[in-house]
Amino acid sequence: MKIICQTENLVKNYPMGKDDVVHVLHGVDLEINEGEIIAVVGPSGVGKSTLLHILGALDRPTSGSVKIDNMDIFSYDDVKLARIRNQTVGFVFQSHHLLPEFSALENVMMPGLIRRQDANILKQKSYDLLKEVGLEHRVQHRPAELSGGEQQRVAVARALFNNPRMVLADEPTGNLDTKTADALHNLLWKISRDHRQTLVIVTHNQELAKKADRVIELNNGRITSA
Ligand code: ADP
Ligand code: MG
Repeated sequence: MKIICQTENLVKNYPMGKDDVVHVLHGVDLEINEGEIIAVVGPSGVGKSTLLHILGALDRPTSGSVKIDNMDIFSYDDVKLARIRNQTVGFVFQSHHLLPEFSALENVMMPGLIRRQDANILKQKSYDLLKEVGLEHRVQHRPAELSGGEQQRVAVARALFNNPRMVLADEPTGNLDTKTADALHNLLWKISRDHRQTLVIVTHNQELAKKADRVIELNNGRITSA
């Protein structure tokens, strides 16, 4: 099996004011295989979001390294890091983070706009992804004209736009009712399996975690079971 992401001794501290520091991650070592679905569990405030943000290059660790395809991503400056993020990871957050002024179609192709690709190609790809998440009848709707579940489906399609090496989902169904949440989970699973797409998902849903290839539990800033 091919390892696509590897962390080594990840430490994250948040400075608070002048003298205080919040110690969140105390040395996280993790290897993620290509096509693997990993569920991250653990009590609130333990550092799950912090870990995901670092894996997704949204935030830098205090020390330690993250390698994606053997590329030591935090050895690069912020400009290069932003490019790596755009091209190698797709993020789905708890709330959708869609741009309110743009249609579903435009929101999904945003990650491609940054790369200045041809507009017709972008639109076609965006349409295809919206179809895959079951929203081909909602492409012109703006976020406010979509239900919560539909908004998250758009966010999933957007996360997939650049064919990322990993999709990182941070409690993506946290704001949805149980039935809608189940449907979104099933969709994420189906997409990951169909595309052999690596997925790291933070969840409180025990049933869901059981279906993952691997469950990682964060406790006291470390992985306590893997
Ligand atoms: P989880 O996602 O597991 O609930 P987080 O990763 O969001 O946990 O947060 C872990 C800890 O770090 C919490 O105690 C939180 O208060 C703290 N924290 C998160 N972000 C910051 C920040 N920007 N500055 C200071 N402390 C933070
Ligand atoms: Mg969190």
